[in-house]
Amino acid sequence: MRRRSKKPKWQLKIAKERIDILFELAKKELKKYPKRSRRYVELARKIGLRYNIRLSKERKRSFCKKCNTLLYIGKTAKITSDKLPELKVVKCLNCGEKKKIPK
Ligand SMILES: [Zn+2]
Repeated sequence: MRRRSKKPKWQLKIAKERIDILFELAKKELKKYPKRSRRYVELARKIGLRYNIRLSKERKRSFCKKCNTLLYIGKTAKITSDKLPELKVVKCLNCGEKKKIPK
């Protein structure tokens, strides 16, 4: 039986760096090239999955799970509900997906 091999550390390091770079690029391109920006987020997520790298909480919250748009209130997202005391609901303006974020 083949053991699920663990990726060597140096590979994980490179993968993490690539994720950082992709998120940076996604931020940069968001305004001018939203499609490209979404593609970068998608790639970053794929790398994370392949190498079993967890994204930080902040990072996970920063994009739409459904369409990979980076969410910025007032730009690509808006808060639709502020009624719940400990949650805010952020709506992605690209695909309409709603995301609950603890305050
Ligand atoms: Zn979306």
